[in-house]
Amino acid sequence: MKIVLLGPPGAGKGTQAAKLTELLQVPALSTGDMLRAAVREGTALGKEAKGYMDSGALVPDALILQIVKEFLQTPACANGCILDGMPRNLKQAEALDELGVDIDLALSLEISDDEIVRRMGDRRVCPKCGTVFSVTANPPQKDNVCDKCGDALIIREDDKAETVLNRLKVYHAETEPIIGFYRAKGKLKTVDATQTIEDVNKALAGAVGL
Ligand code: AMP
Repeated sequence: MKIVLLGPPGAGKGTQAAKLTELLQVPALSTGDMLRAAVREGTALGKEAKGYMDSGALVPDALILQIVKEFLQTPACANGCILDGMPRNLKQAEALDELGVDIDLALSLEISDDEIVRRMGDRRVCPKCGTVFSVTANPPQKDNVCDKCGDALIIREDDKAETVLNRLKVYHAETEPIIGFYRAKGKLKTVDATQTIEDVNKALAGAVGL
């Protein structure tokens, strides 16, 4: 089963993708995580992507499509996959079709802008392993320390208030139209993303038929 997770930044796509990979036993690709790793490692991709990411803009489609093509060709994707953060505009959604990637289900996490702004203020990430925490909804065991690798948690550069507003603007202008794209294909299911992490996960499990 090939699934795309839709929703604004901070809706919980990364958290839910991690849970769905366990439930469905298929790999997930987070284009955002891949890009952040490339920035950390200082690769050519990272150098090209950084400026766009820091301002909350989208990285050029050609770079994203290259990442996704490579991922989809890996043997791990034979039984399906979850795409988190891709497609991010109609061009990318159409490009998946053109590549013959038949998306079975688009799961849209629904949440208001006000709630996103509140959540982003609570979000902390581990700079080393990328694990995401929320000081309210999903706090680390020890204040400000990653449960997995013990590094001090940080606020992501693009989670700072002014960048979040830009990311929301980009989401509404460029990403939201994808909801209609998958609805028209009869592949859209929506989930209330304001629920607890566990309840959102139950709703998504139901949506994928588990
Ligand atoms: P995310 O972690 O999904 O919120 O992504 C963080 C940033 O990475 C975004 O604000 C974009 O700059 C970039 N990015 C991630 N996925 C994509 C994509 N599919 N297309 C273009 N830019 C992306």
